[in-house]
Amino acid sequence: MKVELIDLKKRYEDEKEHLIKCFDNVLKNGSLIMTDEVANFENNVCNFVNSKFCLGLNSGTDALMMALWSLGIKKGDEVITSPLSFVASVGSIVHTGAKTVFVDVKDDLNINEELIEEAITDRTKAIMPVHWSGKVCNMEKIMEIANKYNLFVIEDSAQGMGSYYNNKHAGTFGDIAAFSAHPLKNLNAVGDSGFVVTDNEDLYNSIKLFRNHGMESRDNVKIFGVNSRLDSLNAEILSYRLTRLKEVINKRRNNISLYKKYIKTDKVILPEDSLNTHDSYVMMISLCDQRDKLQSYLTSKDIQSLVYYGTPLHLHKASINIGYKKGDFKNAERLASKVLSFPHHQYLSEEQIKYVSDCVNDFYD
Ligand SMILES: *Cc1c(COP(=O)(O)O)cnc(C)c1O
Repeated sequence: MKVELIDLKKRYEDEKEHLIKCFDNVLKNGSLIMTDEVANFENNVCNFVNSKFCLGLNSGTDALMMALWSLGIKKGDEVITSPLSFVASVGSIVHTGAKTVFVDVKDDLNINEELIEEAITDRTKAIMPVHWSGKVCNMEKIMEIANKYNLFVIEDSAQGMGSYYNNKHAGTFGDIAAFSAHPLKNLNAVGDSGFVVTDNEDLYNSIKLFRNHGMESRDNVKIFGVNSRLDSLNAEILSYRLTRLKEVINKRRNNISLYKKYIKTDKVILPEDSLNTHDSYVMMISLCDQRDKLQSYLTSKDIQSLVYYGTPLHLHKASINIGYKKGDFKNAERLASKVLSFPHHQYLSEEQIKYVSDCVNDFYD
């Protein structure tokens, strides 16, 4: 049996009729940039996550960059974040000129809130918690620290759409949050897209100007900005997919339950909701003994799996000037050698999950 990691082709088959309707809705109007579809989507996000403002952008990476920029983060400042994330979390900080300060993670792969205070200096301006794989960080404690030291909080909620902490949506705890609608996220566009969410009207106004060349009107440029607009077709598709997001996440949460039911070995630790979280499980990251051997074995059984990611961010060539070395974040390094994502998408059958689980059990037997 062949089991694929993700299945965007199946998603297209499933949604084809609706997607063609979206295409028709937008293209028949003859206008593709900053049309009502974008404002509608932004409104829909506000209602879904319960926040005041949302702005559609080109990508989750742009969303992070603009969040930092709108808060005035610059050279000489320090921003605290996690060494276990996608590279954009650090790239966005680097491009503001600020210094990245890493804090080690807990076994759930998220920043260890107990270690944040000792990393704070006079230059610290912000904390950027990453809700990795849609697991929400301990936002209660992180907000407490941020308030105590008067720091901004930018949530990297790229994977947090549909995740909750104490029944409050991911991305609504800090000053501003960045979301991604990359094809591999749970709420996904047909290409790159992202958005920011905030309750702060000043940040909203700054980014609104910045994403559209700083133009107040066609012939009136207030500042020099960039082009990072969410396009109308993706906005229309995202609005449709947002109506199905809860269903998608329930299916993905059910995948995890089934893996838990069928994987019988204690050599694999499966992801789990924390006490106060309802996680969206964008990826199904397990911690596996002999990870590389297991992965080869699964490949030989026609099962796709993927390592997200084998190298913590402080150990990349690009991080050399940030100034860390091997051994600085022991838990992140240990976990990066164990992470493996099993097939995980909303069209996976119980039979397929059982097959993958049986193969995992067989490997350790
Ligand atoms: C996907 C992702 C990003 C970047 O989002 P893009 O839309 O791909 O630019 C940033 N941070 C994290 C944690 C991500 O998973």
